[in-house]
This record gives sequence, structure tokens and C-alpha cells, in this order.
Amino acid sequence: MRRNLTDELDQCRTTYEGLKRRLAEIGFICVGTVLEVYEACGKPNCRCHADPPRLHGPYYLWTRKVGGKTVSVRLSPQHAPVYMECAANRKALQAILDEMTAISMRAMDLLKQEGS
Ligand SMILES: [Zn+2]
Repeated sequence: MRRNLTDELDQCRTTYEGLKRRLAEIGFICVGTVLEVYEACGKPNCRCHADPPRLHGPYYLWTRKVGGKTVSVRLSPQHAPVYMECAANRKALQAILDEMTAISMRAMDLLKQEGS
């Protein structure tokens, strides 16, 4: 029983160290998401009002919450991929943190059992 606890605790430590290494490799992060938007303009005879419509775009909007309000910023096609990557990095970071938390809590539980 005690042996199993130690083995599982070692496994927790190994997995945790692996997650820490993945954490260290993450690049810049940003909040929010980048939306690809196609729009119709105000000119009635434009191709975007034809049948079928050929909308303008894509335009890129970086959307995020600031103080409970949604804020959108238009991005150039050159900058959009950078923001997309940073937003994806933050999601990956959060997933790693969630995993680290779960493993830590399991390890704490094992340590508590070991000590009793
Ligand atoms: Zn148009």
C-alpha cells in the first residue's frame, strides 16, 4: 500500500515536470479571440448585394472583454495570424495549468494519505 503511494507520487512528479517544460516553451499570449469577418457595404449596386452576394473581406477583428464590455479592434491581414497564435498559446497555457492543478491536487491527496 505504502509502496503504491510512493510510486504514484513519483509518477505525479514526473508528469508535473513534463508539464513545466511544456509551459516554458509557450510564446507570447493574449486574451480574446480573432474573428474573420465578411461584410456587405452600403453601395446598393455593389457585388456584395448581388445574387449570390460576394461579400467584402475577410476582415479581422480581435475581440476581448475589458471591464465586462466586449471590445473589438480591427487587425490587418498581416497582424491577424500573430494575434491568432497568441490567443491559441493562451488556451494551451490554460490547458497545461488545469492539468498541473489536477496533478498537484492528486499529489497533495497522496501526501496526506502517506502522512496518516
Ligand atoms: Zn459592397
